[in-house]
Amino acid sequence: MSASPAISPTQQSTTTRHDWQLDEVQALYALPFNDLIFKAQTIHRENFDPNEIQVSSLLSIKTGSCSEDCGYCPQSARYDSDLTPEALMPVDVVLKAAQKAKEQGASRFCMGAAWRQPKDRDIERVVEMVQGVKALGMETCVTLGMLTDTQTARLKEGGLDYYNHNLDTSEDYYSEIITTRTYQDRLDTLARVREAGINVCCGGIVGMGESDVDRSKLLIELANLPKHPESVPVNMLVQVEGTPLMGTEALDPLIFIRTIAVARIMMPKSRVRLSAGRNNMSDEMQALCFLAGANSIFYGDKLLTTDNPMTSHDSRLFERLGLHSGGSSYAND
Ligand code: SF4
Repeated sequence: MSASPAISPTQQSTTTRHDWQLDEVQALYALPFNDLIFKAQTIHRENFDPNEIQVSSLLSIKTGSCSEDCGYCPQSARYDSDLTPEALMPVDVVLKAAQKAKEQGASRFCMGAAWRQPKDRDIERVVEMVQGVKALGMETCVTLGMLTDTQTARLKEGGLDYYNHNLDTSEDYYSEIITTRTYQDRLDTLARVREAGINVCCGGIVGMGESDVDRSKLLIELANLPKHPESVPVNMLVQVEGTPLMGTEALDPLIFIRTIAVARIMMPKSRVRLSAGRNNMSDEMQALCFLAGANSIFYGDKLLTTDNPMTSHDSRLFERLGLHSGGSSYAND
C-alpha cells in the first residue's frame, strides 16, 4: 500500500467534518501503518486524555426470539443457535446487575432487547429501568430496535442518555446481511433519536465478508450524519454456530486496527468503542486499538449473548497499559 499525496501523515485536523468522500477515506486506510496510527493518536490526544478509557457494561434485558434476520445474530428466531430465549427481565433484576457493573467500574449501563420494534407497554418497563439505573448514578443506554416519535419522546422524558442503533455495514452491503429492514429504516430511527435530544451510539461490524470500500462507506455514513454519534462501537464479527455468517473468512486484525484509526480521524470527538470480538483479540491487539484511538470498551463477562473478557483480565490489562477508566460522553467542542 502507498500513501496518497493528498493526505500528509502529519496533517492534522480536529474539525468535525460531515463531508467525507470515498477517495480520501480510502487514502487514509492506505497510509503506511505507522503514519496512520501516528495521525490517529495525534488527533486523539488533541481531544481526549490518551490514557483514559470510558467503560460501559451491557446487559441483555430480553433475549432471543427476534423476528429480524441479521446474519450475524444468534438472537434471530430464524437461526438454529443454542440460545435460550428469555422474556423481558424484571426491573429489580436489571437494577441488581447495574449495581454490580457500577461496583466493577462501569460508568454507563447499556440494556439491549432483541426486538424489531418495542410495543408502547415495553417502553414503560424500559423507562422504569432507565430511571432506576440513573438513580444509581450511572449513564444509561438502551437498544430496542426501531422506534416511533412517541417512543423516543417517552424515553427522553424518562431520562435516557443514549440510544444504540448500529448501521452495521455500508448501504451497498446491507442486504447481504439483513433483509427484514432497510438501511433507510435505520437512518430514520437515528434521526428520530436525535430529534428527541437523546445522544446517539451508532457504529458497525467488520469481518462480515464486506469489502474495503464497504468499510470506508460505513465510516462515511457515520461521519456524514448531521451530528457525529457520541459513541461509535466498532465490532469485530463474533462467529456463532447456527448463524449464516458462521465460517466467514476472518478479517486481517491489522485492517480492524486501521478501521479504529480511520474512525478516530473522521470522528475526532466521538468515543470509539472496542466492542464485540474483544474476547478473540490478544492483549497486544487491544493495546494497538487503544493507540489507534479506541477509548471505550464494554466491561463484563458477557456481551448480550456472546463471551467478553473477564473483568479481572481487563483490570490487569488496564494496569499493564497504565490506562484508567473514567470520563463520559463526547469530547468537549
Ligand atoms: S441484531 Fe438485534 S434486530 Fe438483529 S436479529 Fe439480533 S436481536 Fe434481532
